Amino acid sequence: MNELFLKIISGELPCSKIYEDTETFAFLDIKPCAKGHTLVVPKAYTRNLFLMNERDFGRLMETVHKVAHAVKIATNADGINIVINNEAAAGQEVFHTHVHIIPRHTNDGVFAPPKHETYTDGEMNTFAEKITSALI
Ligand code: AMP
Repeated sequence: MNELFLKIISGELPCSKIYEDTETFAFLDIKPCAKGHTLVVPKAYTRNLFLMNERDFGRLMETVHKVAHAVKIATNADGINIVINNEAAAGQEVFHTHVHIIPRHTNDGVFAPPKHETYTDGEMNTFAEKITSALI
């Protein structure tokens, strides 16, 4: 278990708190991609999305929805990215589920343009079928 965010939630470690309710907690990211970059976390520990149940994830996203509006207004952002890194391969460094709310301004260059793949003939349908049959 990564205890960093649990210590922030309990007040053992300092943070710039934005919002708290019975199940979720939001605070400023200490190394922001842009000023106002906020993290929203569940108070009950889970490693990431894959180990979180649908109900708790939905509850987390309710807080993300609320806080994202506030971040956009407060930073006068033109847009907002909502990002969740799940596992190291996807960039997760703190292994306690968290949602990044990143304010964006036109041409701010925060993210590099993403890489794009190309499907070969029929491959797109194959992927759609594989993913569909993995739905639970
Ligand atoms: P991720 O790469 O998705 O796991 O993101 C972890 C985030 O936690 C990074 O953006 C860090 O800057 C942020 N972070 C790490 N330690 C702290 C801290 N003590 N207070 C606030 N944010 C933190």
